[in-house]
Amino acid sequence: MGGAWKDTFSINQNLEVTAIEPETEQLDGTKRLEESLVLIEPGTIIDGVEFVTDVNFPTRLGQFRLYGFYDHQTEEEHTALVRGDVRGAQNLPVRVHSECHTGDVWGSLRCDCREQLEMAVRYVAEHDAGIVVYMRQEGRGIGLMNKLRAYKLQELGFDTVEANEQLGFPAEARDYRVTACILRLLGVQSLELMSNNPDKIEKLKAYGVNISGRIPIVVEPNAHNQSYMETKRVRMRHNYERDGTSL
Ligand SMILES: [Zn+2]
Repeated sequence: MGGAWKDTFSINQNLEVTAIEPETEQLDGTKRLEESLVLIEPGTIIDGVEFVTDVNFPTRLGQFRLYGFYDHQTEEEHTALVRGDVRGAQNLPVRVHSECHTGDVWGSLRCDCREQLEMAVRYVAEHDAGIVVYMRQEGRGIGLMNKLRAYKLQELGFDTVEANEQLGFPAEARDYRVTACILRLLGVQSLELMSNNPDKIEKLKAYGVNISGRIPIVVEPNAHNQSYMETKRVRMRHNYERDGTSL
């Protein structure tokens, strides 16, 4: 168990070391690299999803712009971390990350979300252009408290799929309508999705997103999430193969 924490810590240490980029600092403290390359007007709405504003966004993993979106239908707020000129881009590396409060904020070892998020951000930081969309659909779309209830059922021996079903939810309740709108607002023509999840690819395609390839995100399992990741592989068809872009 100590080993798992140690591994996670060393990953984060590496990220900190490799993250900082030598870029010219401007007088106002912002970086020059990511000036407004994506030319959409604040207030632009597609199918009820509004682009609100974008800001310079230096992070410990690199320099980006952060775009804010508001879905008038659900009143949810979403963000997209954007690097480079993505308008009209083809085969753009894109991660569609669903919010995981327990993993992304608390560093939970029950799942691999935070590591996937960091790997995706680092991948985009290492390329000329790319996007990480952060969707506010906690717990595969069932919400944070229901996710904690499902965790409780898992302590009693149910797997992640059975626990959701016990609570009256499908194993996978996420929807990608808003994601498709965000990608259209950003003007992406085609993308390579950073994902192991064929269901996500199929749902995005159904909303008209042009997915030209897949980039697997492979996180080594730890002692706590081994059975969760095995359930994702066997029962939810997740594919951890490293063999590039086959769909
Ligand atoms: Zn998670």
